[in-house]
Amino acid sequence: MLTIHELHEKLVRRDVSAVEVTKAFLAHKDTVEPKVRAFLSDSREGALKGAAAVDAKIAAGETIADLAGIPGAIKDNICIEGQQATCASKILEHFKAPYNATVIEKLAVSDYISLGKVNMDEFAMGSSTENSAFHETHNPWNLDCVPGGSSGGSAAAVASGSAVWALGSDTGGSVRQPAAYCGVVGLKPTYGLVSRYGLIAYASSLDQIGTLTNDVEDCAIVLNAIAGHDAKDSTSIPQEKQDYKQALVNDVKGLKIGIPEEFFGEGLDAASRKALDDAMDTYKKLGAEIVPISMPNMKYGIAAYYIIAPAEASSNLARYDGVGFGMRVDGKDIVDMYIKTRTEGFGDEVKRRILLGTYVLSSGYYDAYYLQAMKVRTLMKQDFDEALQKCDILLTPTAPDTAFKIGQNSGDPLAMYLGDVCTVPLNLAGLPGISIPCGYKDGLPIGMQLIGKALDEATLLRAAYTFEQNRTDLRMPSPMGEVEL
Ligand code: GLN
Repeated sequence: MLTIHELHEKLVRRDVSAVEVTKAFLAHKDTVEPKVRAFLSDSREGALKGAAAVDAKIAAGETIADLAGIPGAIKDNICIEGQQATCASKILEHFKAPYNATVIEKLAVSDYISLGKVNMDEFAMGSSTENSAFHETHNPWNLDCVPGGSSGGSAAAVASGSAVWALGSDTGGSVRQPAAYCGVVGLKPTYGLVSRYGLIAYASSLDQIGTLTNDVEDCAIVLNAIAGHDAKDSTSIPQEKQDYKQALVNDVKGLKIGIPEEFFGEGLDAASRKALDDAMDTYKKLGAEIVPISMPNMKYGIAAYYIIAPAEASSNLARYDGVGFGMRVDGKDIVDMYIKTRTEGFGDEVKRRILLGTYVLSSGYYDAYYLQAMKVRTLMKQDFDEALQKCDILLTPTAPDTAFKIGQNSGDPLAMYLGDVCTVPLNLAGLPGISIPCGYKDGLPIGMQLIGKALDEATLLRAAYTFEQNRTDLRMPSPMGEVEL
């Protein structure tokens, strides 16, 4: 699979032009997209224009950014001025973003190229991309399977070779789980490292924009482009900019890797367990220390997340009322108009979460559910604090199993929610996590999650990079063929 760093080299050496690169990716996308259906929109004209501008810079002898001229894809809940931002919802089907998200402004400085907006679960609620109001997306490794979610379009675009990199968002695993299912690298940064300005809100205390790429070096490159303080996001952390490429060191000697037993319990598939055990062996051989630990409050993760996230969602989604923006269905009076608009505009899962969220926030139940969940959140955070005092990083599965069949869980919300057991705790604690491929089962990729201390993405990247460099046996030919340059 072509990576950002390889393509950058080729551009700088003038082996190929940026326009040729974009055209090659568009041609590949045209052949695989009818099967994969990762995209919700097509920005080929803008992409070719952007590529021509990069070629002009190269011709003028200017230095170009690492990402310049390399085709990417953007999840459809991130605003690009003048383009659709549907959140894969009928209610925003005709909405055009009036401004750029901060990540887009930052990417523009790097002369990024976007081939289009990509599919997702409606308002990022889901784990399979089946909740998109428009269409399903297929897993490039097995077209009968889901790509994961909610950033399923982002993961499938990268895994199918239509895009070299993609942005997603992660509220409870939506970057890491699709990355695991599609065999790519997915990073959810520390809460506050990447600005959320212009990311359409799902659950604001958990939402974070993340990256999907073919390897760890590319992950560092995209993170370099999007990280940094932003005055427009009050939860953005003021801190000095780092160069994450410096973290790409093939060495884990002395690194303490915690293995929290609670992530390896009931429900973990045997092949995934084996792949993770092998990964621990790899790290041991490379000189890392494997430290068994216990984090007893992890068992509350799913319950706490599925109270807090819907609570925040019910408030965030109140704005889609047929008045400010988005779809409007007229009614006999204003209340009737609200009801009709929201009934027609939202899909079942979004309605379920709004109902759940309003219920747990209602006066009679606030203490029993919302407040309790917030207390549990603190306990979980303390578990992480203690674990990360003893260890540098933690190693867990990203998901209990590989990608499931399309339709398999769609009638069973609880089964779907339980699949998020390994990813939601990090969002509740605000910590960074990366999913990288660590094996295969029946032709489907298995993901390993590494969890780091807040703002210590560098150690995560070093550990992930070292694994990737030493486990070349895991490199597979691209499931849908290579892009022909
Ligand atoms: N699958 C989880 C949910 O449905 C996480 C989604 C996300 O991270 N956006 O809420």
